[in-house]
Amino acid sequence: MTEKTKQKNGMRTGAIVHNQFEMAADLMELEPYQRKLLTSPFRSMTVEVPVRMDDGSFDIFKGYRVQHSGARGPCKGGIRFHPLADESEVLGLATTMTWKTALMDIPFGGAKGGVQVDPRKLSERELEQLSRVFINRIALILGPYRDIPAPDVNTNAQVMAWMLDEYSKRVGYSPAAVTGKPVSLGGSLGREEATAQGCAYVIENYGRDFGVPVKDGRVVIQGFGNVGAHLARLLHEQGAKILAVTDVDGGLYNENGLDIPRLFPHGYLERQPVQDFDGGDKITNDAIWKIPCDWLIPAALGGVITREKNADTLNCKVVVEAANSPTTPTADKILFDRDIDVIPDFLANAGGVTVSYFEWTQNLQQHPWSFQKVNDELRIKMDRAYNTVKDIVEKRNVQWRTAALAISIKRVAEAEKLRGH
Ligand code: GLU
Repeated sequence: MTEKTKQKNGMRTGAIVHNQFEMAADLMELEPYQRKLLTSPFRSMTVEVPVRMDDGSFDIFKGYRVQHSGARGPCKGGIRFHPLADESEVLGLATTMTWKTALMDIPFGGAKGGVQVDPRKLSERELEQLSRVFINRIALILGPYRDIPAPDVNTNAQVMAWMLDEYSKRVGYSPAAVTGKPVSLGGSLGREEATAQGCAYVIENYGRDFGVPVKDGRVVIQGFGNVGAHLARLLHEQGAKILAVTDVDGGLYNENGLDIPRLFPHGYLERQPVQDFDGGDKITNDAIWKIPCDWLIPAALGGVITREKNADTLNCKVVVEAANSPTTPTADKILFDRDIDVIPDFLANAGGVTVSYFEWTQNLQQHPWSFQKVNDELRIKMDRAYNTVKDIVEKRNVQWRTAALAISIKRVAEAEKLRGH
């Protein structure tokens, strides 16, 4: 990936996260040494990931694991497979994980992993090989009380199963070393849809408090992967109209609402392009940003809402960041001036890591929970975090992101201080 291509893709996640931190740090008058401590990674590892391809040749991919902070507990965060993954992006995402676990008040720090690869170009066997080699090479810094990987963009329960198997070969039975596993290997019920479910709870709360109802609400979702597809399903079940969704190949629009119960198996379970579905009009990926709606939900990659592209013209009541870092700082400011609330990623999508925490506790105790218990506990956690942020938003008249960051930074800085840093 050249610098030019990266720039064409808009502001990069690492820079977005750094910029947001500086703004909150100014507000909180953080001391210079604390800024340094909270922006640089605790530990960062870069590895080569050689894979024997099906044609007999070797390809070497670059892999990263960045542990941003372990002040509040073991580092925690997903692993993504993506051509744009690099050290700066992975550090940005690891930092967001620190704020996410702190905001949810779960006993973890923040980490992230990435392999620079386009997984769509790999066969199933090559993908398995890549997953096993990568986890082996970073295994030295992992462990149930050290750093616990999970799924992220383009990785899923099967990838976690291979990674757990590989890790277990080194240390023996150790289900709490990886979360987001298949249920039959010790994964938690409700983990697959947890990010979307947590997001749906936040949407329900915000809708009630600020008069943007979910029932009959008009929803536009960018992305139809794990988060976008499950969120479409859950909001549709609550009576919302899902006007448009997209995937990498394009979008689909229906002003009366898409038939989600049919689109879900087509686009998500069978991984067919959403544009091949018959119940709507084909639209481009860019057209999605112009559709008048109540809830606009980016649920794919970072840096998609920008000053240059769409912040001035978004036609929604609220943006809910189901993806990590979808909004650039300048776009954030424009939306604030336009009176459009942005529910930040580390609140909106925190359901995933929260149920990862439940999975980890179930593994450590060897005592699985029911689906109902997982969702009840998730609701308690999401409601509590939402209300804590809302209180500050209302008392201080600041953006949701600023309020949430202030809470997280305070918790992490306090833990660091108590440890003597
Ligand atoms: N990848 C997810 C996130 O960005 C989940 C991380 C986890 O479960 O550790 O929050």
